[in-house]
Amino acid sequence: MEKQEKRRQIMKEFPDMFRQSLGFDCGDGWIDCICETIRKIREIAPGTWINQIKEKFGSLRFDATTSMSDSGESRNKVNRLIERLQDQCDKICEFCGEPGELRNVGGWDKTSCLRHFEIAEDGGNWGACREEE
Ligand SMILES: [Zn+2]
Repeated sequence: MEKQEKRRQIMKEFPDMFRQSLGFDCGDGWIDCICETIRKIREIAPGTWINQIKEKFGSLRFDATTSMSDSGESRNKVNRLIERLQDQCDKICEFCGEPGELRNVGGWDKTSCLRHFEIAEDGGNWGACREEE
């Protein structure tokens, strides 16, 4: 519930940057970093479109298209910001935002803190972490 709310807020804050068909699917723990990066992107290269934000194999995938209306330098900066964001999320628990690392439960990789790893192990899958929130 609350997670949906946060995502909706972000999309409302940056209506000019999201495509209508945006896929936005990742845990709460990454939302603040994502939001901060989007703010920076909009300052640097306001023509950027965000196509998709999602978690895959435990890592954040942030897919954006920069606009030719912004300078090449700005577009390079945006690409670096996105790389940095993805690297950052590799060290942050996707569920709570605490420091984390890539862990595997039931054959699925997720970046999580020790606490959420234990919750997932007890529950037998990562879904247990979502229910706990
Ligand atoms: Zn956690």
